[in-house]
Amino acid sequence: MLKILLLENSEHSISILTKELKKIKQNIDVLVARTYKETIKNIIKYGDEIELALLNHDLLQTNDATLFDMLEVNNIKSIIICNDIENIPTDLIFERNCVIDCIIHYTKSEFKNIVSAASHVFKNIDKNILIVEDSKIQLAVLTKILEKMNLSVTGAHDGIEALDIIEKSNKKFELILTDYNMPNMDGMQLTLKIREKFDKDEVGIIILSSNNEPDIAEQFLKMGANDFINKPYHETEVLTRINSNLDLIELFTKTKEMANKDFLTGAYNRRYFFEASNLILKKARRENTKVALAMIDIDNFKNINDTYGHDVGDKVICDVVTVLKEHIRSYDLMARFGGEEFCVILDNLSYEDAEKTFEKIRMSFEKNVINADEYTISFTVSIGIYYGLDDGLENMLKIADKSLYYCKENGRNQVKVSV
Ligand code: GH3
Ligand code: MG
Ligand code: MG
Ligand code: MG
Repeated sequence: MLKILLLENSEHSISILTKELKKIKQNIDVLVARTYKETIKNIIKYGDEIELALLNHDLLQTNDATLFDMLEVNNIKSIIICNDIENIPTDLIFERNCVIDCIIHYTKSEFKNIVSAASHVFKNIDKNILIVEDSKIQLAVLTKILEKMNLSVTGAHDGIEALDIIEKSNKKFELILTDYNMPNMDGMQLTLKIREKFDKDEVGIIILSSNNEPDIAEQFLKMGANDFINKPYHETEVLTRINSNLDLIELFTKTKEMANKDFLTGAYNRRYFFEASNLILKKARRENTKVALAMIDIDNFKNINDTYGHDVGDKVICDVVTVLKEHIRSYDLMARFGGEEFCVILDNLSYEDAEKTFEKIRMSFEKNVINADEYTISFTVSIGIYYGLDDGLENMLKIADKSLYYCKENGRNQVKVSV
């Protein structure tokens, strides 16, 4: 279990922070130390399990080298919480590798900032950043700052090298931090090149520049940069800007996902199905292969709702996704089409395989039992399939629907393939 060590003596702060920090990730444990001594004891006992320490500055001892040595030896990232803007120990950030941030906490709402800074320590682990900087010293300094934040850093010395890395690397870069003045290709040219391929919400670009022209920041933003940092910069500024840009990109990604996915089951929705199925059909036409488009509908679902209630009905709908996923490949397209109706497209398979696959799916629903509330429920599905490669998706859906209707008319719990 990952541990966060909290040095704090206000019971109010302890109770709110403990609750909020546990929400960052599953399996997070918060160790509370109310004094400097207890902090040391906890590090001795749990050192290698602690990922992060949140330390109230007022409770640190003036001569606290021992504590920071121990944090460093145990590779524990630390965030200092200050109660007064006058006392921010910015020198600690520079001197100590383990100290990644200082946060001022003077109102209750500031808990949000503490939790957000703490959550980045965990979230940043999977994120790749590309730094483009011609000065080796600057590149080393920036790399050190970002690695302290748990980010995974790749370096490039000019725009050309950066483009080459982006094209050839198997990493997906969340953010590119680039200098403006560089030989071969500068930060502005690089920004333009990247924007030919990736939007602002796919890859973020932050420009670092010592250029003092008054409207330079505006120009960069117009060219497609997400943000701009003046040189010389303060380490805390880089840290804050990077984290807030990463948050924005994550928000964009989530919004996109929400637009494509069904809220109840997490499966793709109808809108996305129409978009993605076109790509599958195009590929099938190009390769001259056939597809099976199946409409899967729960039998007598209204009875389940009427007998057990709507919440149990919802669980049954979610269970359909679980069962379907066991039978299709992760890249096959499956969507919730409406209420208790799902659509699946499988490509590159024979008529016989299509029939066999969906017959297997039908049988696994027949055998499937789910426990919802105090009930044990079983249900069946009918599956209407179109097999072939007709020109229009609409037409394929119509034929699949007709097959489904046939199943319902003939007693349900069956599969019907039409060409
Ligand atoms: P058939 O075998 O002919 O398909 O009968 P059925 O009862 O499954 O089909 P019908 O179309 O008559 O009823 C579907 C019901 O699904 C009606 C609707 O209230 C319910 N429903 C639609 N969406 C949801 C949902 O998100 N959750 C729940 N619990 N019920 C839903
Ligand atoms: Mg330069
Ligand atoms: Mg139904
Ligand atoms: Mg239906």
